[in-house]
Amino acid sequence: MTTEIEPRGMDIQDILSQLTLEEKAALCSGRDFWNLESVPRLGVRSITVTDGPHGLRKQSQRVDGFAPGHTVPATCFPTAVTLASSWNRDLVREVGAAIGEEARAERVSVVLGPGANIKRSPLCGRNFEYYSEDPYLSSAMATAFVEGVQQMGIGTSLKHFVANNQETRRFSINAVVDERALREIYLASFEQAVKVGQPLTVMAAYNRLNGVYCTEHRQLLTEILRDEWGYRGLVMSDWGAVSQRVAGLMAGLDLEMPGLKNDHDPAIVQTVREGRLPMEVLDQAVKRVLTLIDETAVPESAFPQYDRDAHHDLARRAAGEGAVLLKNDQAILPLSSSQSIAVIGAFAKKPRYQGAGSSMVAPNRVHAAYDAIARRVGASATLSYAAGYDPKADVPDPALIDEARRVAQDAEVALIFAGLPDFYETEGVDRQDMAMPAGHNALIEAVAQANPNTVVVLMNGAPIEMPWHNNVRAILEAYLGGQAGGSAVAQVLYGEVNPSGKLAETFPLRLEDHPAHVFFPGGPRTVEYRESIYVGYRYYDTAAKPVLFPFGHGLSYTGFSYSELHLSAPTVGDTVGLQVTVDVTNIGNRSGQEVVQLYIRDVESTVFRPAQELKGFAKVGLEPGERKTITFALNRRSFAYWDAGLHDWYVEPGEFEIRVGASSRDIRATATVEVTTTGSGNPSISRRERLAEYCEPAGQATFSRDAFAGLYGRPLPPNRAQRPGEYTLNTPVGDMRGSLAARLLRAVIRRQADAGVPADPDSPMARHAESMLEQTPLRMFLLDADGSTTPEMLDGLLQLMNGRLVEGARALVRAIRERRASE
Ligand code: BGC
Repeated sequence: MTTEIEPRGMDIQDILSQLTLEEKAALCSGRDFWNLESVPRLGVRSITVTDGPHGLRKQSQRVDGFAPGHTVPATCFPTAVTLASSWNRDLVREVGAAIGEEARAERVSVVLGPGANIKRSPLCGRNFEYYSEDPYLSSAMATAFVEGVQQMGIGTSLKHFVANNQETRRFSINAVVDERALREIYLASFEQAVKVGQPLTVMAAYNRLNGVYCTEHRQLLTEILRDEWGYRGLVMSDWGAVSQRVAGLMAGLDLEMPGLKNDHDPAIVQTVREGRLPMEVLDQAVKRVLTLIDETAVPESAFPQYDRDAHHDLARRAAGEGAVLLKNDQAILPLSSSQSIAVIGAFAKKPRYQGAGSSMVAPNRVHAAYDAIARRVGASATLSYAAGYDPKADVPDPALIDEARRVAQDAEVALIFAGLPDFYETEGVDRQDMAMPAGHNALIEAVAQANPNTVVVLMNGAPIEMPWHNNVRAILEAYLGGQAGGSAVAQVLYGEVNPSGKLAETFPLRLEDHPAHVFFPGGPRTVEYRESIYVGYRYYDTAAKPVLFPFGHGLSYTGFSYSELHLSAPTVGDTVGLQVTVDVTNIGNRSGQEVVQLYIRDVESTVFRPAQELKGFAKVGLEPGERKTITFALNRRSFAYWDAGLHDWYVEPGEFEIRVGASSRDIRATATVEVTTTGSGNPSISRRERLAEYCEPAGQATFSRDAFAGLYGRPLPPNRAQRPGEYTLNTPVGDMRGSLAARLLRAVIRRQADAGVPADPDSPMARHAESMLEQTPLRMFLLDADGSTTPEMLDGLLQLMNGRLVEGARALVRAIRERRASE
């Protein structure tokens, strides 16, 4: 059952009864890009929504549209990949609360985040904005973020719901996902955050899911989200994600964003008048919009401030906890102030600290690691620097590398700062491979030869290949640390902060090892999620593939031992719950924090299951010699898989192994429990034969189309490009090459776009703009801030492109005339 919203301050029922049909329709889309509609005569105020997620990206209210150059300064916290690597719910909650506080101060009512999409592939251009390849961890982090922001009275928008796991063709791609993977991986990543966090809004993604746009997906937006999960908040569209507004309303999409000059209001009004859209459906959406306004409107009288220094300190603490010490041979780290250091790499002075796109915060200050290191090098030691590479270039620069080698030779320790330059990681563009720029790799190889004490500090938002990893002593994955990341790195390097981050994603040895690398990013029309539930470590561990650094891995300057693993019972019914306790002791001589991870393995199963799955984790701080008992509570869901035959979670009776450890590949203690089930029937067993490829993924070079079709359970949708005559308003402009009219239109659009692009064509925002150009469906031209494009014009254009030249030209001319007449 859908839960009714409880109105608070405003008398929502009364307001609803006084609204005209036109006003109701208007309330269901924004007033402009960042503000909701108001109804002054009834005291309904407009509220502002703003990106996120790792800080506030509020645009100056003077500019409409997407204008990254007009952003109000805010604290740039570490991005989601870094926050997730902390595995620290309290810390993420604290960061959320700080962002909520900044939102209040800026009179922003809803922060557009967190992003709970699964990192299906290491190549997704927005991985830096997402938490993990594992749904349990991802949802836990998203929950904490939602709770943090919302405790300040500010709303969040859990996004992008769902299966928006790539940037390529995100406005049109059809993600073809089997029911089990959808439930166990992609929906699960949102589920806890919805059920526990109750975000005030959820953002429906751009893409299609199994043939239907997420913004029109009734099963997704109403049946699963509301009826099953008990969601009570509002569902908004991603920016420009609406194809059919009325279908969206019927499916459960309450609010369309942004507001367009040529919006869908008339269509809503007309369909209500014609009786095709029940008034109750519209009223429900309006109630949710009003409730959101009621719950989050920042009082006019309040002028809250926030403590910038305190937020900067928090950003530094978060960056320090999110940094992952991947390797530390011969305990070369931490450094001491008596050592002479060669700092190498342009990132040391000009850090990479966030990704590009809608999340790009304008930081109120940025700390470079070089300065922080300089303050720590003692008087008796020397500090030198070499840039090593041009951060804007891919290729090695022999002169810069030579200089770096010389500098490295003279120092006790060579500290290289490398990773992925800005233009490698941006919304709208997926990476092509997992390689670092050749210039960075060549630099590391050369410096490592010159100085055996080479330490690499990485700044990047997603996994990379490290062909040189055997040649360096230590690797610190600093990820994207936000504005204080530079200082945090220095604290970790010098041991003032004991590293406690753990990878929230696997680093494969090579891209080819990744189970989806052949099917990612798919296209032109579909992307088949053929690896099904084998995402990240679920695949590598089941297929027993070696990896570069496993999920959950991360070193400390101290050591921890695990003992006394106990289960509350040797046998449990699946509805009873099981308590697991384990003792963890700090056996080193520094205080530190350990992330204790609990995985479950179904010892014998009639359906295919991953070798192990994360079902619990705890971060615990321990003084030297100190021991603590950690308790995990497991429930039915911890043991269940989604049975596509039953359309429900099912626990197969039998033995399950409880595996507790310091990473997915460093299990320190195991115990076995016998679980009995309350479920009945198991229709999937009969399909087992057909799924042989999934039962034995180790032998698979790839997952075949036939096997996936068997799993999907219905014919796979066609994936050929559309031809003239088939184009719709949803066809990406880049795909419309078949007709002369299409080519002409593309040329015009390109000329206009080129005029608006930043001078540097390699800049991340220029790459973002370029990808938008190719991928944008015709309908999204209505997003024009000035409303110069009308639906009628698009209709004319579409006819032209589909080869109906006379009708199209007539319709276009008529539309242009009407537009002019209305000015
Ligand atoms: C992004 C969202 C973002 C929105 C508003 C969209 O393109 O996908 O994550 O919140 O723009 O900037």
